[in-house]
Amino acid sequence: MEETQDREMVVLNIKTVGVVGAGTMGSAITEVMALNGYSVVLKDISDQLLERGKRNIERILTHLVEYHERRAPEEIKRIESLGIKLTEEQIETVRNALRPAYDRSTISQTIERIRFTTAYSDMDGCDVVIEAAFEKPEVKKEIFRELDKHLGDEAIRATNTSSIPITSLASSIKNPGLLLGTHFFNPPYTLPLVEVIPGLQTEERVVNEIISFLKNLRNHRRQMLPIRVKDSPGFVVNRMIVPAQNEACFILQEGLATAKDIDEAMKAGAGWPMGPLELADMVGLDIAYDVAAMLYNEFGDPKYRPPTLLKRMVEAGYLGRKTGRGFYEYG
Ligand code: NAD
Repeated sequence: MEETQDREMVVLNIKTVGVVGAGTMGSAITEVMALNGYSVVLKDISDQLLERGKRNIERILTHLVEYHERRAPEEIKRIESLGIKLTEEQIETVRNALRPAYDRSTISQTIERIRFTTAYSDMDGCDVVIEAAFEKPEVKKEIFRELDKHLGDEAIRATNTSSIPITSLASSIKNPGLLLGTHFFNPPYTLPLVEVIPGLQTEERVVNEIISFLKNLRNHRRQMLPIRVKDSPGFVVNRMIVPAQNEACFILQEGLATAKDIDEAMKAGAGWPMGPLELADMVGLDIAYDVAAMLYNEFGDPKYRPPTLLKRMVEAGYLGRKTGRGFYEYG
């Protein structure tokens, strides 16, 4: 009972969410927050990048609405394909049971909750800010220093870093007790996991508040699932994904198999839902490279060394889906 009361009290504390970076993750995190009814202030460095982020949010919402619109007709078609002729009444029952939870108005209503800006000063009313900019410690530290000038003394500072130690980022702000990691997965509207990482100095109430906040969010499929992880490079998931992704790249580099066959092998032979190279293209090869380099630097273990092929592809601007070319080409 006490826990429920705490949770309700805690959730009320967060009304406005800030997100820094309108790229792959920042725009998708913004969509989840706004769809859950929060006001969101989304910041990037140019109007053009904000416009790209907005288009991505519209695309994600359109997919959600179309999925809901398709459910009833597809179910009716499926039943009839089994040779069963449904009566009008039965069709109506299916339609009622699978009535869309979202419709076209969801798109505009969700977008209206988002304020797009290039100014840190617009984030002054945020109760929590999630930073999702480039995976470079200096970029992130500078963002937190800027936020310090505008955020309230109680506002929580969270970072979506995949690999940078939280304690080192916290050293850039006035009150390191307010900063922690909230590592969302790509794409957050379907993957519910969030690794919550306190730094050495993070206050316990900040950790609890964020965990309660995240637990109360729903993505397109289910409730978000925060897990608490100690501050160690790569946290839990990337510690395992990075060596696998690197190895897939080395296998390709050595010419043992094609990219498609490497991915097919892991799907058909290991039960992975996606191949490691497809996943790297979705994550962004620049991000994949930066994360591997950071883990290698932190642990000094050669299993994390970034493959030369990955480096060359990043230099060539082949960053995966976001640039239309990575291990695969995208139309
Ligand atoms: P991205 O390159 O798609 O987007 C980064 C955005 O940040 C860009 O739009 C850039 O203009 C913006 N930016 C840079 N400096 C800024 C500043 N000072 N103010 C405002 N905006 C700024 O990167 P991404 O893939 O979205 O990754 C963002 C973060 O999330 C990284 O730390 C990454 O490690 C982490 N992450 C990425 C994934 C993934 O699959 N891509 C998954 C989990 C975590």
